[in-house]
Order: sequence, then C-alpha cells, then structure tokens
Amino acid sequence: MKLYKIAVLPGDGIGPEVTKEAVKVLNKLSEIDSRFYFETKEFNWNSEYYLQHRRMMPENGLEQLKKFDAILFGAIGDPRVPDPVSIWELILPIRKQFQQYVNLRPIKLLRGLENPLKQEVPVDFVIIRENSEGEYINSGGLMFEGEKREMAVHNTVMTRQGIRNIAEFAYEYARENGLSKLTNATKSNVMSYTMTFWDQVVEEVAAQNKNIAYEKYYIDALAAYFVQRPESFHIVLASNLFGDILSDLGSAIVGGLGIAPSGNINPKGTFPSMFEPVHGSAPNIAGKGIANPMAQIWSAALMLDHLGRKDLHDAILRSIEEVLMEKKVLTPDIGGNASTVEVGNAIISKLKME
Ligand code: ATP
Ligand code: MG
Repeated sequence: MKLYKIAVLPGDGIGPEVTKEAVKVLNKLSEIDSRFYFETKEFNWNSEYYLQHRRMMPENGLEQLKKFDAILFGAIGDPRVPDPVSIWELILPIRKQFQQYVNLRPIKLLRGLENPLKQEVPVDFVIIRENSEGEYINSGGLMFEGEKREMAVHNTVMTRQGIRNIAEFAYEYARENGLSKLTNATKSNVMSYTMTFWDQVVEEVAAQNKNIAYEKYYIDALAAYFVQRPESFHIVLASNLFGDILSDLGSAIVGGLGIAPSGNINPKGTFPSMFEPVHGSAPNIAGKGIANPMAQIWSAALMLDHLGRKDLHDAILRSIEEVLMEKKVLTPDIGGNASTVEVGNAIISKLKME
C-alpha cells in the first residue's frame, strides 16, 4: 500500500468549510481502493493564529511542512489582519522556500456548466504562469519631494534560468498530457528589455520541442482571443503578471471562482507542492455553509495528478461533472440552493474507480 502524507492548511473564512469536503474526498478514495492511503494532517495557521501569536506560522513551520508529499491549502484573509501579512508571512515563504516556481491553472469548461460566453465550443486549456520572479519581485524605489511621492519605480527581474525552468515545465506538461500547441503570452513590442529576453529563451526551448506547435501573441490581443476563440488554446505560457491577469480572465470564461483550481508546483519534487482554489476566504459568505467546494476538490484532484495519480484526478473530475450535469445539488453561486456539505457528499457518492 502506498501512503501519501498531505498537509492541510484550511486557513480562514470559507477555507475550512471547503477543505473539509476535499479531505472527505481523499478519505473516500483511501476507502474504495486499498492500494493507497491518504494521511492528512491539519495545521491551523490562519488569521486567528496570527492574532494570538503575532505570526502566521511557528518558527519551524516550513520544517514541519517539508516532511509532507503535498500541501492542500484553503484560503487566507481576514478583515482583522492586513492582507500583506498573510501573503508575506505564509504564502510567499512557502512558495519561495519550496521552489514552487510553476503556477498551474486549468481553464476547462466542465460538462454540465453553462458557458458564460454562450458559445457552443469546448474550452479546455491550461495556463502555466511563472511563479517566482518577473514583475512580482519586491524591488523598486520611490523619489520624494519633501513628503510627497514624485516618482516610483518597480523593477522586473527575469533570469535565463527562471525563464528556462518555466518553459521546460510547460513543454514537459504538453508532452505528458498529449497537448499539441503552446501559446506564448508576450509584450516584446513594447517591453524591450525583459520581454524580448523572455521570448528569446522561450523560443530556445521551443526549438528543442519542434513537434509541439508554437505561437506567440501580445498580451492585449491574447486577452481578446480568450473571449473570442478560447477553444483554440492548449497551453498558455505567461510571466508572473501576465499569467495572473490571464488566470482570472480564464476562470471567468468557464464559470467563475467557485470552480477554479490551481497548483503551485515544484516540478523537481525536491519540496512539496501546494494546491489551492483560486478564490479567497470570501468573508461575505463565510459561516453560512453555502460556499462551493468544487474549486477546492478540483485542487485536490490536481494534487493527486501531481503525485502521479492521474487516474484519481480523472475520477474526481468525472464525479464533479456528473453532479453538474444532474443540476440537482449545486451551491447558489452556480444557480442552486444546496449547501457546501451537500455538494461535497454528492460528489463523494459518485466517486468510483474505472
Ligand atoms: P480574499 O480577501 O480572501 O481574497 P475576497 O473577499 O476577495 O477574499 P474571494 O474569495 O476572492 O473573496 O471571492 C470574491 C467573491 O466571490 C466572494 O465574495 C464570494 O461572494 C464569491 N466566491 C468566492 N469563492 C466562492 C465559492 N467557493 N463559492 C461561492 N462563492 C464564492
Ligand atoms: Mg480576493
């Protein structure tokens, strides 16, 4: 029997409500197939913890997490704690220390969901976003006149190794999943230092992968194509900032935040990867028991895929799709009146191995 150790960080708001359903799914999988077992351990490093301890996790928090095969994360955010605290003290240290330089976002219109674009086309691609450098490094400066800010500079840093890493991951993902085209999101016509370098390194990797078609679009045009012909993409490779924006656009064209999953991946497997829904803690609906658990459950499915269990990933997605197609047990965000727990149970009741 293979044992997988999963660290669960439920977080704040609806995080604990939806992670509970995802853990139930893992338990059910352990139950229906005795060849593997998912052992989960919960860590309550959330805003409540911060208010008590003035830090988001214990000093040896990362040491503790290191021992796990993967991390399932809910959402962090609480009106009583400023947003940057949880980002700088919890999420970014995990991403950085565990070298999770890939952000993976499937953009897939599940069967049973209405297409928000009202088009009769299948939408099924992934966005692979650089997750560790680029536009989001914390570097820059301000120029003052007296007390007044007069000029601001924010630096972008792209390294050959960083670009190579993400491009190589993208091509490997394409090969493993039988995808035949990669779309590079760029803006090298205007950003003449960083994005021309990005294109150059991406194209060096593309040249070694000639059996996979390569195309390149400027980010502005690409945003429009996401709406006009989303069916034409397989893999979209993007820098940190562009990937961030495209991911939200992507989730909007396939049904919204209650469904959208993501992974922060360390492809080399030297440290655990972390999987989380795209949505935040949604304090406005927290405690009401109406949050949609599908994004969290799909994130758990991505985790299983990453751990080499594509069969279990596919089994979970099939169950989610069955529940969507029946249209009987859905949360209010997608037009139903069922609770988080009812949707979780409905998905679990459909789970079976092929
Ligand atoms: P945070 O500060 O943690 O990001 P937020 O207030 O920005 O929280 P999000 O979770 O990012 O909230 O989502 C914005 C809105 O989308 C929420 O207020 C909520 O109404 C809706 N929403 C998000 N996730 C879900 C979900 N799983 N189920 C139902 N509705 C959701
Ligand atoms: Mg938010």
